[in-house]
Amino acid sequence: MALRILTRRGFRGGVHPPENKELTAEKPIEILPPPPVVVIPVQQHIGAPGQPIVQAGDRVRVGDRLTEPGGYVSVPVHASISGIVKAIEPRPHPLGTTALSIVIEGDGQDEWSDTVVDDEAWDQLPAEEIRERIRMAGLAGMGGAAFPTHVKLSPPPNKPIDTFILNGAECEPYLTADHRLMLEYPEEIVRGMKIILRVLRPAKAFIAIEDNKMDAVRAMRQAVQREGLSCEVVALPVKYPQGAEKQLIKALTGREVPRGGLPMDVGCLVHNVGTARAIYQAVAKRRPVIDRVVTVTGRGVVEPKNLLVRIGTPFSFVLEHCGGIRDGAARVLMGGPMMGIAQFTLDVPVVKGTSGIVVLNQEEVDRRQMAVCIRCARCIDACPMGLMPTTLYHLVKAKRFEGAQDYGVLDCIECGSCAYVCPAGLPLVHAMKWGKMEVSRKLRAAG
Ligand code: SF4
Ligand code: SF4
Repeated sequence: MALRILTRRGFRGGVHPPENKELTAEKPIEILPPPPVVVIPVQQHIGAPGQPIVQAGDRVRVGDRLTEPGGYVSVPVHASISGIVKAIEPRPHPLGTTALSIVIEGDGQDEWSDTVVDDEAWDQLPAEEIRERIRMAGLAGMGGAAFPTHVKLSPPPNKPIDTFILNGAECEPYLTADHRLMLEYPEEIVRGMKIILRVLRPAKAFIAIEDNKMDAVRAMRQAVQREGLSCEVVALPVKYPQGAEKQLIKALTGREVPRGGLPMDVGCLVHNVGTARAIYQAVAKRRPVIDRVVTVTGRGVVEPKNLLVRIGTPFSFVLEHCGGIRDGAARVLMGGPMMGIAQFTLDVPVVKGTSGIVVLNQEEVDRRQMAVCIRCARCIDACPMGLMPTTLYHLVKAKRFEGAQDYGVLDCIECGSCAYVCPAGLPLVHAMKWGKMEVSRKLRAAG
């Protein structure tokens, strides 16, 4: 297959928020030293939580497994420092809840489990063994979706995958973790993609990167050539949410994922570049997910950086390493400003889905007053899913959840484009999340 760089058409809707990536785009990934204590939630993925297989007082090494998966759609978590399990108890989780967590007090030794070993024959393994290694390494989408990777790599026989897309778009403002990964670890990412292609055997493969990262396009293109991979490296025009799965598929293939459907319904599968690198580490090095790259940024941080952070490290420890928070900092988010989740304590830990810690100052925080809808329809033009956010907002506010279901609230990808353009500053994403939660609950209750 020819190796080309293309600029393709985009998708409907979307917005162009200020990128603010210059704060960290040139900052190479630094290794954050292991913290004295880590707090590891047993659930960092979509699906059933794992069951602890350690107890207070146990000694653990880096990479030791701490939980048994709670079912097929579940992955284990692992120790990210060596030391003693101090407690297994509910702790604050960055999703805004409390979650059962395993607290490890470090011994300063950073001793690794002897299960973490290189496998010279990694590129010869059968698909079943690959999936099992990925599962037991605790892989869940590192782009933030946190869906167990082995499940995504197991499409049912009636949904064959003919197109694989490696997602390096990183369209969320401020974040540069994937950009730095593509510049600094392109071979490992491409090897991870090779493993994915070995499992799926699609007819066509793409690497998709927004064209504000042409250095990453070049780095990935060179790595693809060096590794002898057959795929197309595509530069896509900058538009938010270009990195959302359905928008990426539409932009690259012209295919529309149907309402309520999944990418596999149109023969496609998408994985993030961070996930591909973690797949390589899991399969070729038997290394579980014990760390990840986090962009720590925003004008409320003294020294913005890209850091390799051990899972379970408290936000407070990460921010200290960046010089702390400036006076006037107004909001701390896990993730970027469009889809990120506001944090109310810095005691929360970095989890597998933490792509960024963004600290916004007063000027960066959206201070539009909540007013009434003026029926301007800007939200409808901006919605990349073709929804009517204003109608959904009014239905949810009136608790007319069946109506919200009819108008497609479950298709909302919570991208925040509608809220970004709304001149009234209405809490549209909050309404969509509430509507989705209520409709999902009713559907579950109805069996
Ligand atoms: S309704 Fe949902 S998908 Fe549409 S713009 Fe708003 S948040 Fe994005
Ligand atoms: S953008 Fe805001 S004010 Fe305009 S129609 Fe949508 S909800 Fe109403």
